[in-house]
Amino acid sequence: MQKSPIHPFSATIMAWYVEHQRELPWRQTKDPYAIWLSEIILQQTRVAQGLPYYERLLAAFPAVKDLAEAPEASLLRLWQGLGYYSRARNLQKAAQMVVREFSGSFPQTYDQIIRLPGVGPYTAAAIASFAFNEAKAVVDGNVFRVLSRVFAVETDIASSAARGVFTSLAQSLIPDADPAGFNQAIMEFGALQCTPAPDCSVCPLRISCAAFSASRVAELPIKSKKTKAKEIQMDYLVIEQKGELLVRERTENGIWKGLWEFYLIEGSLEWLPFPRQTLKSPPVHLLSHRKINCEAWHVQVPDNFDLEIPAGYGWMSPSEFESKGKPVLLLNLITDNLDCPILQDISPAYL
Ligand code: SF4
Repeated sequence: MQKSPIHPFSATIMAWYVEHQRELPWRQTKDPYAIWLSEIILQQTRVAQGLPYYERLLAAFPAVKDLAEAPEASLLRLWQGLGYYSRARNLQKAAQMVVREFSGSFPQTYDQIIRLPGVGPYTAAAIASFAFNEAKAVVDGNVFRVLSRVFAVETDIASSAARGVFTSLAQSLIPDADPAGFNQAIMEFGALQCTPAPDCSVCPLRISCAAFSASRVAELPIKSKKTKAKEIQMDYLVIEQKGELLVRERTENGIWKGLWEFYLIEGSLEWLPFPRQTLKSPPVHLLSHRKINCEAWHVQVPDNFDLEIPAGYGWMSPSEFESKGKPVLLLNLITDNLDCPILQDISPAYL
């Protein structure tokens, strides 16, 4: 079969990539398991922050079977600080599916990979191309930005049509000879060169870039405004008695399921007739659609007081609580209040 000629855009960014790429451990491997792990971590995390997590997770679970069999609590503990914990849970569900349905060897085609929990079109295309050289173009925010500028695509990237439009364009540009190289190149080009505020004077595409020629770089890509994040208040009591803390695991569906927290104030506190010492509030915490404000207090309960323990809570030593996965909001609360002795004993390892 005759090979189609490589598009000048593709040739340019691939040549740029050879010179400018960052050396990252997941680029040195063809192992689909390691690539998948890196892609899931990087879904909502910057490279510098994700790197140590990638190394720790791969060391703790060197093969997909190890991840499938790990206790969920130890996975969440290793994930602590990365946020978006559904990623970790889906990671484990997907590992279990690989063991169950593919006898432990990672699926090799885009159509199979996309069936794994937590894997969308972008991640499936990345794994299928990087590990198996399948010609599937990756499309993420970086790719939207690069293509919309170079080819003057006016489609609103927040619209439901955007993925289809940009995927067809990217797919028409991906060379059969080196799909992995093209995907790596366009992602890196978007991350390092064609950034939200790029330096076009050093860009190898400026001659052919439609946005640059028309002085429209700042206008593209077009993105309609997001809805405002909802503000919620979550206030905690750090309740201490005999050197232990009153804590619970969040078991309800919603944010932070499976993570641990101090006593969350939801109703009346009549059962706790002791003075409260105000703790420093952690900074406002942003989730994808929520903005969480938090205030917190420390309460020392006398040793001889028989406290009525609220349902779902129990006593735990600071060192055991340290070993549990906790939301970043709580890690911030702890590290901002190390002058409170019991919080000093919970020293978060992964900050
Ligand atoms: S010229 Fe500027 S806007 Fe166009 S591709 Fe290069 S960096 Fe992006």
